[in-house]
Amino acid sequence: MILPILRYGHPVLRRKGARVDEITPAITELAANMLETMYAAAGIGLAAQQVGQPLQLTVIDVRGVKDRPSTLDLAGQSSDVAGLMPLVLINPAITPVGPPVAGPEGCLSFPEIYQDITRPESVEVAAINAKGEPLQFKAGGLLARVIQHEVDHLNGILFIDRMSAQAKEAMKPELEALRAATKAAREKE
Ligand code: ZN
Repeated sequence: MILPILRYGHPVLRRKGARVDEITPAITELAANMLETMYAAAGIGLAAQQVGQPLQLTVIDVRGVKDRPSTLDLAGQSSDVAGLMPLVLINPAITPVGPPVAGPEGCLSFPEIYQDITRPESVEVAAINAKGEPLQFKAGGLLARVIQHEVDHLNGILFIDRMSAQAKEAMKPELEALRAATKAAREKE
């Protein structure tokens, strides 16, 4: 089932996600619906907050992006990124390991807003997957960027928080318009 994606200005986007203690049928269904929603929106990552659920759960699939490479190390071995996709991360903990690099980012909660964001090039990730199994790997490139963007969501942090002050100032009219539209839509509900 495709779920509505909340936009900037919705308060749930600022909520820190609760840990998922058990993979219940509801969690399994939520993860499946989030993947369906993400694909329908042509996104490469979606956090539970973006569909109104403040939980430590995110889904990712970078296979559709051909021009921005990703790397994956599993147990110290360079591995096929596609083999890990789609990726469901529950209760993820990340440790940045690479030097900071700038790269373009967008967000399904900020339609048509794109900006360069500086983030570490690689991250070590520990999480559990959709089956409740532990998952540990190191990601680089686009995959590392998406994971960091999504883990930020799980903590109520949005990519605009990581923009330079100058970039954010330049985007102020668009951001204010989006926030006002979200507020107006919520008042109609
Ligand atoms: Zn986002």
